[in-house]
Amino acid sequence: MAYDYDLFVIGAGSGGLASSKRAASYGAKVAIAENDLVGGTCVIRGCVPKKLMVYGSRFSHLYKDAVGYGWSEVRPSFDWHKLIDAVNTEVLRLNKLHISFLEKAGVELIEEYAKFIDPHTIEVGDRKVTAEKILIAVGGKAEKIDIPGIEHSITSREMFHLKDQPKRMAVWGGGYIGVEFAGILNGVGTEVTQIIRRNSILRGFDQDICSNIQEGMAKHGINFRTNTNVEKIEKVSEGLKVYLSGENAEPLIVDTLLCATGRKPNLAGLNIENAGVETLRGAVAVSHNCRTTQPNIYAIGDCIDKANLTPIAIAQGRAFADTEFGNISRTVPLENIPTAVFSEPEAGTVGLTEAAAKEKFGNSVKCYRAKFRPMFHSLTGADEKVMVKLVVESNTERVLGVHMVGKDAAEIIQGMAIAINMGATKADFDRTIAIHPSTAEEFVTLR
Ligand code: NDP
Repeated sequence: MAYDYDLFVIGAGSGGLASSKRAASYGAKVAIAENDLVGGTCVIRGCVPKKLMVYGSRFSHLYKDAVGYGWSEVRPSFDWHKLIDAVNTEVLRLNKLHISFLEKAGVELIEEYAKFIDPHTIEVGDRKVTAEKILIAVGGKAEKIDIPGIEHSITSREMFHLKDQPKRMAVWGGGYIGVEFAGILNGVGTEVTQIIRRNSILRGFDQDICSNIQEGMAKHGINFRTNTNVEKIEKVSEGLKVYLSGENAEPLIVDTLLCATGRKPNLAGLNIENAGVETLRGAVAVSHNCRTTQPNIYAIGDCIDKANLTPIAIAQGRAFADTEFGNISRTVPLENIPTAVFSEPEAGTVGLTEAAAKEKFGNSVKCYRAKFRPMFHSLTGADEKVMVKLVVESNTERVLGVHMVGKDAAEIIQGMAIAINMGATKADFDRTIAIHPSTAEEFVTLR
């Protein structure tokens, strides 16, 4: 049977864009459907605008730090509208750039919502199209918890379009999104309270990362309500009244409540059941090579239950296209994925946490750790610390995990990830000459 397309991709986020262009480069006839702005979560309402806001928010610390280096004190004023406008202008530039990349690659863009009719047929707007292979790359979206008044809260999506800077903001949730936005808003002068249901942020990260970020955030003035949860939100004349339960249950009055309690795959309305595609815990069920329960349909990125990170979606999309259209069969390994949290202070991590390593290797795990004031702050007077940590299996000396909290952690850990993926040992770290003076040199001098 002749199909309209060799490949039809649903969703023009990072994963969908990468896979469609790669498949087209092998000569496949490819279309991609997107009913929102081309670029998806990362480019339009996630990593990119968030990182720009992180950059914007950090100037407040630098102005203070400069005084110790002889600069006269500045009394900065901050214009929220200017930052939001500049960020959104950049986002729209990137959106256009990605559309032009699709054109250059010969991928047909269909700006409509797509839904399945059967395993080879898709309805897009008022058209029906057929494809030999279909890739689901629809991503995820923030999930709000159903409590009274939740409609008064916003998610990270709306953060990038907030008309006015909140004077007082509550952040509900202690995952990546919660801690990053708490840092951004704190940096630009908003009074931030972060509500977390346990006593620690960033579940799943190494405990030294969690405690050092939380300590650093608290020093910057973020008020934590630990072992506390939100029960109800009410609109009152002074703003929003947030009713809490747990250890720190005194109600809060804020202007904005950011609900950052997790995300879920964006599958509603896609009619995947028409295509015989099954789900598992709300995500598209896939095999190791991203194939769904329907052999001609694949899924990648945040709509499947693997690591929900942009570079993983891109890698999965390219591996799929290489395998199915380029005759280069490959899958994406999911071990030793480096990741960073752009909180203030920042964290970077790759490999096993101390807890996970001990679970796997028991008493043979040895940790090397240092916590110190970085040289930059020897003149600023600021009480800022850096934490570096290696998790090592002592029989083989293999470094299982590298963790860092402090300035430029993301940049430093990217290089460490190469070493970890190559199987570096503690002896390899030790015989590496330090770059002096630097923060990263601590990794090769740990005793
Ligand atoms: P996460 O799943 O990381 O965190 C959710 C937070 O909400 C946790 O603190 C969790 O608490 C809390 N929570 C969940 N359910 C409830 C509940 N019923 N009541 C109270 N609290 C609750 O989600 P995020 O939205 O922060 O991030 C989503 C994904 O986005 C991440 O997994 C990540 O892959 C990606 N991301 C990556 C970034 C990066 O690479 N820098 C940046 C931003 C997002 P508990 O810990 O107790 O479960």
